[in-house]
Amino acid sequence: MENVVIIGSGCAGLTAAIYAARANLKPMVLEGHEPGGQLSLTTHVENFPGFPEGILGPELIENMKRQAARFGTEFKAGAVTEVDLSERPFKITAGGHTYHTKTLIVAAGASARLLGLKGEKELIGRGVSTCATCDGYFFRGKPIAVVGGGDSAMEEANFLSRYASRVFLIHRRNDFRASKIMIDRARANEKVEFVTPYVVEEILSPQGLVCGVKVRNTELSDTREIGVDGVFVAIGHDPNSTAFKGKLDMDSNGYLIAKHGSVSNIPGVFIAGDVQDHRYRQAVTAAGSGCMAAIDAEKFLEAHHHA
Ligand code: NAP
Repeated sequence: MENVVIIGSGCAGLTAAIYAARANLKPMVLEGHEPGGQLSLTTHVENFPGFPEGILGPELIENMKRQAARFGTEFKAGAVTEVDLSERPFKITAGGHTYHTKTLIVAAGASARLLGLKGEKELIGRGVSTCATCDGYFFRGKPIAVVGGGDSAMEEANFLSRYASRVFLIHRRNDFRASKIMIDRARANEKVEFVTPYVVEEILSPQGLVCGVKVRNTELSDTREIGVDGVFVAIGHDPNSTAFKGKLDMDSNGYLIAKHGSVSNIPGVFIAGDVQDHRYRQAVTAAGSGCMAAIDAEKFLEAHHHA
């Protein structure tokens, strides 16, 4: 019987593990289908406090993992396939094993949607990015493309125009899902050029680094190439919450709902990180919420005379 099982091994899950382990709870982390989470898919991280020279995303995650292991965290590979939260102890099945636990921290994260183009994933950190806040700075004085037509795309286009020489906002329709105010702001920005209705057919990278995109007009079917050094894919995120459908409260986009810090609708189940946050989505906010979830789990165990 476990005291705390933590689903997810990104920033939120690992921070929860560090706190739970230091509270002597011997937490168990189920690493999930994307061990290390989104940080393991980035290169330089320059906005995580405490690293004045920046740090590589995978290295930051590895450090957190070592820190959690040092205080007695156990790690298990495998994605969660089934959860039974109908009574305590909760039953969690992952990697073919079923674990019983007094408390559960769900830090399963969110995955940035990609366009599904050939080589796109391999080019992350080589010109392709899913995070303007993280990577915008690397494209100072360079032309870049932002793909998408929602609020994220508008926000990222505006944000990136601080650094980039030019921002091509590529969207597959002439209409936008984004709110009017966000569209107006992007339209008023001299550096932002709207490229619609176009889809990206290919990311050009003859030397292994992004140097352009080939786009196709969806109405006229003509294609053209645009020279850019970066492609920011801003077509939304999917929270990894399918296993909790009908069990934990979620909003219409599938994000889990945490109240008063990390508290879910089921006593003993706590929620942290991007699986409950579509607004901030930062490593440091995920880490902070992981800390909150561990403290909440510890207090719950104490109150129920389990610890
Ligand atoms: P979103 O609203 O779901 O928009 C995704 C956009 O990407 C849509 O324009 C969609 O095109 C496009 N898209 C999806 N799949 C695509 C594909 N395979 N190829 C090309 N284009 C594709 O996602 P979001 O912009 O990340 O926003 C998510 C939520 O956060 C929204 O509720 C949003 O309002 C909110 N948000 C708010 C703010 C703010 O207020 N400051 C900032 C960011 C996000 P179609 O429209 O053609 O489907």
